[in-house]
Amino acid sequence: MQVFTSMIVLGLCFIAFVFYHINDYKLRNADSMLSLAQVIGTNSISAIQFEDNDEANKILSDLQKGAPQVTNAAILDKKNNVFATYTKPGADVFQFSSHTLEGKNFEYAPRHLLVFNSIIDNKDTVGTVCLRANLNELATIEKTQYRMAVVILIIGISLAFLIAYIVQMYISRRILNMVNIMKRAGETGDYKTHVIDDGNDEISILSGVFNDLMEQVTESQRRKDEFIGIASHELKTPLTSIKAFVQVLDAIEDRQPNKQYVQKILYNVNKLQQLIYDLLDVSNIQSGQLYLNKKEFDFDTFINATIASYQVISLHHKIIREGDLVNQVISADLQRIEQVLINLLSNAIKYSPDAKTVIVYVTKTDSEIIVQVKDFGIGIAKEEQLRVFDRFYRTKGSSELISGFGLGLYICRNIIKRHNGKIWVESHGKGADFYFSLPLST
Ligand code: ADP
Repeated sequence: MQVFTSMIVLGLCFIAFVFYHINDYKLRNADSMLSLAQVIGTNSISAIQFEDNDEANKILSDLQKGAPQVTNAAILDKKNNVFATYTKPGADVFQFSSHTLEGKNFEYAPRHLLVFNSIIDNKDTVGTVCLRANLNELATIEKTQYRMAVVILIIGISLAFLIAYIVQMYISRRILNMVNIMKRAGETGDYKTHVIDDGNDEISILSGVFNDLMEQVTESQRRKDEFIGIASHELKTPLTSIKAFVQVLDAIEDRQPNKQYVQKILYNVNKLQQLIYDLLDVSNIQSGQLYLNKKEFDFDTFINATIASYQVISLHHKIIREGDLVNQVISADLQRIEQVLINLLSNAIKYSPDAKTVIVYVTKTDSEIIVQVKDFGIGIAKEEQLRVFDRFYRTKGSSELISGFGLGLYICRNIIKRHNGKIWVESHGKGADFYFSLPLST
C-alpha cells in the first residue's frame, strides 16, 4: 500500500516537473525569438521606408549565422505583402503571408515556433517581422527529461520498496512474536508469559492490553485452582466416612434388592472418590506440591501385579503382557507409577468398548524402561494427540460417547515428568498406543 502510494506521488511529481520544465523552456525560447524579431524590425525600418528589398534580404540572411535555429523568416509590409524573405539553406520554403495570430505574437506548431512582431515607426505600424524556428533542441530536452524521470522513478520505487520492506519486517516481527505467544498460551494453557515490546506505538499498546488480559486470565485460573483445592479437600472427609458406612452395609446386608442398591451406591461413591483424588492431585500439581515417595522395586513384579489386580475388575477385556521380562529394579514412587499404569489401562479399556484385548509391552534400553499400553479402540486424531495430556481436554470423538473429566492423562504426564521420564501417544486410525518411559538412573 505504502509502495503504491509512493509510486503515484512520485509519478505525479515527475509529470508536474517535466511539464513545468518544458513549458519554461518554450517561454524562454519565445522571449528570445521575440527580442530577435524586435531587433530585426528596428533594423529594417529604413529598408521598408526606402523600399530597399536587397537591404531587407541582407538583414534576414544574417540569421544564418546569428540564429541558426531560424529556418524561415520574412518581413511583411504594411499591407502584409512579403517584402523580404529568408529560408535557411536545406530548409523547406514557408509562406508567412497566410498566417495571422489573432492577438498573440507567438505560437507553437509541432516542432516549430512561429513569432510575429510588428515594426513600429513613430507609433505607426510599418510592417511585420515573421520568424519560424525549429525546436529540435526541445525534442532532445524532452527525451532527456523523460529518461531522467524514468530512472529517478525506478530508483524512488526501489527505495520505497526497501523502506517499506524494512518497516514491514520490524512491524511483522513484533506482531508475529505476539501471535506466537498467544498460540503457545492457547496450546499449553500457560498464561503467565508476557509479550515484551519496547516500542512506542499502537503495537506496544496492543501488547500492553494483551499482557493485562493474560494477567486477568492467570488470576482467574489461580482462583479456580484454589477453589478446586479447597472444595475437594472439604469433600474428601465426609465422602470417606460415607464410603466406610456403605462398605459396612455391604458387608452385613444380604437381602435383595437392598444388597444391589448398596452396591450401586458403593460403585458411585468410588467414582466420586476417584474424581476428588484427581482434583486434589491437580491442585497439588498446580501449587507445585506433587511430592514423590521413591523406593526401589522390581519392575516385572510391579507390572505383573498391577495387570493382575486390574484384570479382576475388567470383565470384558483381557489384559495381556507381551515381550520378555526386563529384570530391572528401579527407584520410583511405586504408588504414583501404579496410578499412571492403571490410568492408561482403564483408558485403554474405556475407549475400546468393542475390543477384547489390551496389550502391555515393557522394553528396556541402556538408559530407560519403556512401557507401552496398546488398545484397539477409537484411536486419537493426529491433531489431538498432544492435547490429550492437557488439563480437562477430551477428544471430540470421545466426549459425547464416553464419560470422563480429562484429568487422568494430565496427572500422568506430571507424575512421569517428576520422574524425569516422558509420556506420549501414537495413533494411526484404529487404536491407540500410550507410552511412558522412566530413566534407569534417577
Ligand atoms: P478422561 O478419560 O477422564 O476423559 P483422560 O485425561 O484420561 O481423561 O483422557 C483425556 C482424553 O484423551 C479422553 O477424554 C479421551 O478423549 C482421550 N483418550 C485417552 N485415552 C484414550 C485411548 N486409549 N483411546 C482413545 N482416546 C483416549
